[in-house]
Amino acid sequence: MSVTGTLYIVSAPSGAGKTSLVKELLKQDGGIRVSVSHTTRPTRPGEVDGQDYNFVSMTEFDQLIETHSFLEYAEVFTNKYGTSRIWVEEQLAKGTDVILEIDWQGAQQVRKLMPEAVSVFILPPSREELRRRLTGRGQDAEEVIDLRMSQAVSEMVHFDEFDFVVINDQFDKALAELHAIFKAQRLLLTNQRVRQAYLLADLLSE
Ligand code: 5GP
Repeated sequence: MSVTGTLYIVSAPSGAGKTSLVKELLKQDGGIRVSVSHTTRPTRPGEVDGQDYNFVSMTEFDQLIETHSFLEYAEVFTNKYGTSRIWVEEQLAKGTDVILEIDWQGAQQVRKLMPEAVSVFILPPSREELRRRLTGRGQDAEEVIDLRMSQAVSEMVHFDEFDFVVINDQFDKALAELHAIFKAQRLLLTNQRVRQAYLLADLLSE
């Protein structure tokens, strides 16, 4: 029996530092890859097509829905986002652990399809700190920041649907905690039975 990868769902409100944590985790652990989602939202400065997202039109997105190309998809604050089903299945079959950085709606869909998926929710350390992180360079109007805060709350209320909760106060500590989840998962009996099959057979032979 070969080892299949584990599917991880990582969700967080904007401003919790999810993307930076996942980026750093990938640098530290070569056995993990992150799924690049499709989105209909416009590219932000510095974003690269095919790297941060696959940027597509509404029509292209609808075609991908019709061809059952998405493992899950959702509308998040007026834009559509979806996860490529085939890419995820291929990676898992190869034994690679896969991270989906998706919202709570996508997380619910994936949990239904793949109950064995491990889900992690990342929270900011306080309301004040979240507001500070959402304020950016201080160029945004108060109403814009209020909207971002209420959007963050509408994501955070779903924290209790997840297996693990990490608070991102100090980046390095949160990163170590996130990494610990991945490491512990690989040590589960069900995974070790397969991973260490030869060793176990040898150790247990009379
Ligand atoms: P942003 O546009 O700021 O990059 O992302 C907005 C929200 O969409 C975030 O909560 C992010 O996790 C979520 N998101 C990104 N890709 C996907 C996806 O493929 N599926 C779902 N359901 N949500 C996604």
